Amino acid sequence: MAGTFRPPTLKDALRAIGDTSTLPATLKRAFSPGDDFELISTPRPGDWLAEHFEPGQSYEDFVRSGVVKPDRYRNRIYLQPLGDFAEATSPYLAKLKAFTSSYFMMDTKILPHLPLNNSILTSRINPYTGKRQVLTLDVLSLLAKNKPGDASCVLAITMEDLYPDPSWNFVFGQASPGEKVGIFSFARYDPGFYSAKRPSGQPAIMLKRSCKVLAHETGHMFSLAHCIYFKCVMNGSNHLRESDARPIFLCPVCLRKLHFAIGFDVVNRYEKLLNFFRKTDCFEDEAQWVERRLKSIPA
Ligand SMILES: [Zn+2]
Ligand SMILES: [Zn+2]
Repeated sequence: MAGTFRPPTLKDALRAIGDTSTLPATLKRAFSPGDDFELISTPRPGDWLAEHFEPGQSYEDFVRSGVVKPDRYRNRIYLQPLGDFAEATSPYLAKLKAFTSSYFMMDTKILPHLPLNNSILTSRINPYTGKRQVLTLDVLSLLAKNKPGDASCVLAITMEDLYPDPSWNFVFGQASPGEKVGIFSFARYDPGFYSAKRPSGQPAIMLKRSCKVLAHETGHMFSLAHCIYFKCVMNGSNHLRESDARPIFLCPVCLRKLHFAIGFDVVNRYEKLLNFFRKTDCFEDEAQWVERRLKSIPA
């Protein structure tokens, strides 16, 4: 219900991280917020938490929920491009792949493009935008049917607009967490979709938005629920301003969950992300943040 969200206190957030006293020093620091994370604040009208009630998922709740971890047979993330990715207006797939593999510390592969001009996928022209939209449920069943044997999860990404049901106007994406498949559209992250002018740095902005969406949605694939503790990539988002304001990083609660699910070296993960951010336009602030964070975690 609107207006009922009470922002957490630091005590609430620390409780959600859980007891770290028996962990090695590196993990203890990595799961401690220090000065690097801000608590989530009171949502403004129209923001996600003003419109959606979310109880929160602590680290303990997450562990108790029975997480399906990648194992030695299913340990790869697959990205499935659907339709065209025009160079001037779409994120670079090689960059998305590099980001995903550093973020999740898992081998990531891009599957061959799936064309849209086939009869398997239902599409329609949206009467309001006049643009083609693809039915998500068709894509999800196709992904589940063709899922590679070593896939931990498969995420279809597309510049096409999507709809989940004929009665809906559109949807940004949809996942089938049980099957560990999902489809996400970047179409509405491009000002050109609304016939607005693209700013000069648009390819870099598009890449950053797409990386955030991938981090968030792949996080859901590993059973991470929305975060209501810190400003975090796992915060829910209702509109573009809210998505843009969301950091690309996982807060200590969510990092601890992902670490439990995947079991990576936290320092090595930050180093890989730093390497990606340094080599990629538009991620200067993120690179600085990781540098600062790494200094506070003893290796
Ligand atoms: Zn979400
Ligand atoms: Zn979080």
